[in-house]
Amino acid sequence: MKIVVIAIDGPAGAGKGTLARRLAEHFGYAHLDTGSLYRAVALRVLRDGADPTHEATAAHEATRLTEDDLRDPALRHEATGLAASKVSAIPAVRQALLEFQRNFARRPPRDAMGAVIEGRDIGTVVWPQADHKIFLDAAVEVRAKRRVAELRTMLKEIDEAAVLRDLIQRDRQDRERSTAPLKPAADAFLLDTSNLDIEGAFAVAKAHILGRSGPAA
Ligand code: C5P
Repeated sequence: MKIVVIAIDGPAGAGKGTLARRLAEHFGYAHLDTGSLYRAVALRVLRDGADPTHEATAAHEATRLTEDDLRDPALRHEATGLAASKVSAIPAVRQALLEFQRNFARRPPRDAMGAVIEGRDIGTVVWPQADHKIFLDAAVEVRAKRRVAELRTMLKEIDEAAVLRDLIQRDRQDRERSTAPLKPAADAFLLDTSNLDIEGAFAVAKAHILGRSGPAA
């Protein structure tokens, strides 16, 4: 049986994680959040006391990731996200993480018949042959508000202006880098979630996938 791959790309805070998990659950597919790989590399570099733009350290750490690294609660911190955006611009880091991502698409864990993979370059670089490509976006102010709401569940004090500033900086770094920049694949379905809640985004994405002779619902 053919493995079905759904690629979900888009900027930070567009709702990729929630949508990807919902789709994976709905279709019984495996889910991979590729941002956590870059975050884990960034965290290792920060803990080495190195600068996230230091190519040799980042490239070395990218070859040493373990399962435990991917479960570290510090992965979700804003500082880790910003540092991830820096290590992810280093070609050797991207190269080191590529095979892991492609193997996930080829052979999803637990014998799942499909994979939902979210990131920035899944439909353009990691798996351009994906059966379905969705590029999720939303106005930056809306994305910042969502990030603030998410952070409120973990932290007491949140500097909302700083969250917006970090998001703008991360967007710029991700869009302007020369290796695998954030951009929609030519054949991606563009889904703007500025005025959609989770249910709304899930319904549109699901209809799109099924409408393109996707997996049986
Ligand atoms: O998705 P998330 O916000 O966790 O990703 C953290 C950072 O990792 C992003 O800002 C981006 O720079 C990088 N990333 C990437 N390619 C991916 C996934 C994430 O460059 N496929």
